[in-house]
Amino acid sequence: MRVYINGKLYSERDAKISVFDHGLLYGDGVFEGIRVYNRRVFMLAEHIDRLYRSAKAIALEIPMSRKAMADAVVRTCRANRTANGYVRLVVTRGVGTLGLNPFVCRRPQVIIIAATIQLYPKEYYEKGLSIVTVPTVRNLSEALNPNIKSLNYLNNILAKIEAINAGVPEAIMLNADGRVAEATGDNIFTVKGRTLATPPPQAGVLEGITRNVVMDLARKSGYEVREQMMTRYDLYNADEVFLTGTAAEVVPVVEIDRRRIGEGRPGRVTQHLEKQFRQLAAAVGVPVG
Ligand code: PMP
Repeated sequence: MRVYINGKLYSERDAKISVFDHGLLYGDGVFEGIRVYNRRVFMLAEHIDRLYRSAKAIALEIPMSRKAMADAVVRTCRANRTANGYVRLVVTRGVGTLGLNPFVCRRPQVIIIAATIQLYPKEYYEKGLSIVTVPTVRNLSEALNPNIKSLNYLNNILAKIEAINAGVPEAIMLNADGRVAEATGDNIFTVKGRTLATPPPQAGVLEGITRNVVMDLARKSGYEVREQMMTRYDLYNADEVFLTGTAAEVVPVVEIDRRRIGEGRPGRVTQHLEKQFRQLAAAVGVPVG
């Protein structure tokens, strides 16, 4: 594997950054996860835009243009002959002192890893997920806006630990008001009749790119799509529930906190959207060459 660091490609062995990088010392940095399908980078412009918005919010100036960043992603994929994979794009604050001050860090580090993806097992899509809500509350947006995709994912990792301890692969996090927020790395949707609902940004969620694609596809298919606050009650009583994310795509949920959702198997609307998402992913994107 060839890893991109600041304009150069390195072997996996030589791809190294300093222990004084504030990305490591403080989680001070931003990132994106991007999919490649059939030698095309899916939603590249959207991911790059979000990366720059995250960076802006933490006063991190990325030392290259958006166009150069997009080209660097494509170049890294080409160097790795990535046909289908997962690209991790990371911008760290760079090397500094042991103090917090980010402004002593002179040069942000731009890292691009074009990896193969560890997909969710097929069974999750065929049978649906059993998940739980967890005690760890989603970070308050007023403290740390979830739209900042930062290198500090401890809030989500704590929730993930609680899910795994409960014997399930994924957790639903509530916000400080007890409203449903999101899964640890995915957004959540409910289906009731022909209406889809997902928590609004004010619920304290990352506005996922997959979430937006699915909302779009659903509207085009004639479903009503609402952003609305929801409680666990709404999840338990939905006809269908599914999660969306770059890695997971669209994955059905059939049990939450030991309550069976709908018929307890992947629902028709979820399956329809899963299929439409896959068709779109296979058809669009920036060619790797
Ligand atoms: N929520 C969180 C907390 C995430 O980390 C992610 C994955 N980036 C998502 C939702 C889904 O976002 P996307 O569809 O852009 O991958």
